[in-house]
Amino acid sequence: DVRHGPILYLEGLNVSFDGFKAIDELTLYVDAGELRCVIGPNGAGKTTMMDIITGKTRPDSGTAFFGQKIDLLKLSEPEIAEVGIGRKFQKPTVFEHHSVFENLELAMAADKRVFPTLFARLSGAQRERIDEVLQTIGLTEQVHREAGALSHGQKQWLEIGMLLMQDPHLLLVDEPVAGMTHQEMERTAKLLTSLAGRHSVVVVEHDMDFVRSIAKRVTVLHQGSVLAEGSMDEVQNDPRVIEVYLGE
Ligand code: ADP
Repeated sequence: DVRHGPILYLEGLNVSFDGFKAIDELTLYVDAGELRCVIGPNGAGKTTMMDIITGKTRPDSGTAFFGQKIDLLKLSEPEIAEVGIGRKFQKPTVFEHHSVFENLELAMAADKRVFPTLFARLSGAQRERIDEVLQTIGLTEQVHREAGALSHGQKQWLEIGMLLMQDPHLLLVDEPVAGMTHQEMERTAKLLTSLAGRHSVVVVEHDMDFVRSIAKRVTVLHQGSVLAEGSMDEVQNDPRVIEVYLGE
């Protein structure tokens, strides 16, 4: 069971683009059930790291394991999704002309094991799962609304809900609060915090107040490797971190 012990092991990763080192001996572990925030200035390598985990970018060297046994560098992008790694990109991509319910239903159908159910009646368990996810993302009252009519924040939560339909072990989230109001940010913090435990969550985010409001452990990337790691207070008071951010 990948939920016991660290869920993500990245060790000594290196990625170069045309001779430029985007990822430089990156080593990072994420515990099962943890909510981890990854911060760092533009160009630090955050996106490239997420791309390695999801199989979009192959490192030149290093190791990337999911749980003890699954070598991510041997799997294709769809296989990585299949073993239980979901990724939410910054821009929400919901089906605008379908209801919230249908969006969740379609997201469930993307799982090959239940694909035929799209054309049949949902089982009681599937209906329950949709209700459960609706509650988690706080959209129970919007269940019959067209996704296109939702606010920006609600679309982001719906998309998180769509990922949750696959019940991923690890959820990667790219800048979840970009463009959100303060109130939406607070709800997003609650949502992501509530996911930890059942899921492991890695959040890449620029908004420091938001990171402070959710993170137990923060990793600071700089020039493709880990500059500092610890609580928000620890990393914010780290002279190397201050130097990097002031120099931005
Ligand atoms: P972050 O997400 O922290 O802003 P990125 O991972 O996007 O950082 O980028 C790290 C560095 O690698 C940047 O200097 C960026 O310009 C470079 N880079 C990223 N992807 C590519 C690519 N496909 N080709 C060339 N350079 C890239």
